[in-house]
Amino acid sequence: MTGGCVFCRIVARENPADIVYEDEDVLAFTDIYPKAPVHVLIIPKRHIESLATLTPADTLVVGHCLQVARGLGERTGYAARGYRVSCNCGPEGGQVVYHLHFHFMAGRR
Ligand code: 5GP
Ligand code: ZN
Repeated sequence: MTGGCVFCRIVARENPADIVYEDEDVLAFTDIYPKAPVHVLIIPKRHIESLATLTPADTLVVGHCLQVARGLGERTGYAARGYRVSCNCGPEGGQVVYHLHFHFMAGRR
């Protein structure tokens, strides 16, 4: 049981998702409401609430998420054209899902 966290449920395969990358610590899947031609969410598998609750123990996995973003840039062919990686934090930062995630968006200025 993974409780109410929708992204933990995706990690546990209790909810469906279009998974585009996975390793031991990180998962990436297509955003259900894409705001760009390529819109992928990159998350640590371990539940971390937000950027605001990061601890030193989370440093590696955050860097790892960004390495996955770099890899997605290459795999999707957008490395040279460019893309956006963003993280919404807290109510005024527009965070809706309280499981840390990075938006990878490409194909639209
Ligand atoms: P936030 O505003 O928290 O940074 O972004 C949450 C993102 O998660 C939104 O872009 C939203 O479309 C996406 N999202 C919310 N629930 C689900 C879901 O169940 N599956 C997928 N694939 N994306 C989701
Ligand atoms: Zn979670």
